[in-house]
Amino acid sequence: MEKLILIKYGELTTKKDNINLFIHTLKQNIQKKLKKEKVTIEYDKGRMFIRGLDNNFETIINNLKEIFGIHEIVICYELNTLDLETIQQEILDLIKEKEFQSFKVETKRSNKNITKTSVEISSEIGAFLLKKKPQIKVDVHNPDLTVHVELRMNGTYIYFDKESGLGGYPVGSLGKGLLMLSGGIDSPVAGYMAIKRGVKLEALYFESPPHTSIEAKNKVIKLAKELSKYNNDIKLHVIGFTEIQESIYKNIPHEYLITIMRRMMYRIAEIIALKNNAKVLINGESIGQVASQTLTSMKAINEVVKIPVIRPVACFDKLEIIALSKKIKTYETSILPYEDCCTIFVPEHPVINPDPKLCSLYEEKIPYKDLIYKAIKNHEIIKITSEEKKSFAEFL
Ligand code: ATP
Ligand code: MG
Repeated sequence: MEKLILIKYGELTTKKDNINLFIHTLKQNIQKKLKKEKVTIEYDKGRMFIRGLDNNFETIINNLKEIFGIHEIVICYELNTLDLETIQQEILDLIKEKEFQSFKVETKRSNKNITKTSVEISSEIGAFLLKKKPQIKVDVHNPDLTVHVELRMNGTYIYFDKESGLGGYPVGSLGKGLLMLSGGIDSPVAGYMAIKRGVKLEALYFESPPHTSIEAKNKVIKLAKELSKYNNDIKLHVIGFTEIQESIYKNIPHEYLITIMRRMMYRIAEIIALKNNAKVLINGESIGQVASQTLTSMKAINEVVKIPVIRPVACFDKLEIIALSKKIKTYETSILPYEDCCTIFVPEHPVINPDPKLCSLYEEKIPYKDLIYKAIKNHEIIKITSEEKKSFAEFL
């Protein structure tokens, strides 16, 4: 009898024709995450099995809990038989050490060559256990112990406990997106939500030294590192935004500063995305949060690009976003007090209903195409992995 880990896919099983692509991507992601462990991974359309485990169950399960596309993680025992008597004896052996008063048996029979129904098999196993251990009783509603038995084509799998995975789709199975990552609370949460839907992220950060500090940049690197746990690794693009921002500040009416600045960010983000084969932009905008996030503002800003923009937290309120950022452990970093380029040069009265025609007119006052070209030409790329050993200094 081999002890192994069984993985249930959840939502992936709703995929029909391209289920293999999803499951294959999941397998690759697990392999990358577990590359230090000597395990083998097998799969079929219903389940994935991880074999070759030592005493490293805990490490492996903790790693699996950071991988999207996994619905449940189960430590199970594999028997190379479908013979009911052998199965019953093995279960009796496995529950010897367990303390419980009540139990139930739940059978799943994906091997349809077996003539008995799942319910018949459960009650036969239940009756056998009751005979051998008269002090225990059956409780189908609230048992101390549930004995799960899965009869598959190549054998039987027995398990007792299961742990929840993150759900969602395997990262990369839906292609690539470019996350506009600031040091704030919202964008890391937006990134996490996109990864959950199978989007592999690259990230883009605008910095404005000397107005923004190295600490602000390190904060973004740290946030990207947190996200890279779920994303395998992250390529972080850093764009020097100082010249563009100063030029806007000098030449454009101040109530339009933020609107124009964000139009420039979108233009640059679209170019970086297309160059890197990312199909969408992702950002942390939330409807109504600030002047640049009214519906009219969002329209005036969005209209300078053709690429779709996904805003995962658009309809969340701030408290919901904060709760998620605590859950994914980006909150403590996000609240560090370093200024972002969006918070410098903030006008006293930013326009909340910007006129796109005026935006275009104002933009003619600056050589923005040249400035964008220059910023992209000089941009820096930092590759971030989630591996513990590396210090942030190594990335700089
Ligand atoms: P906060 O949590 O303080 O609202 P924020 O990052 O959401 O922080 P906003 O001013 O609301 O800041 O910006 C809206 C979105 O624009 C961000 O979520 C992010 O996606 C993008 N953005 C803002 N500043 C930058 C930046 N410096 N680099 C990259 N993206 C940025
Ligand atoms: Mg925000």
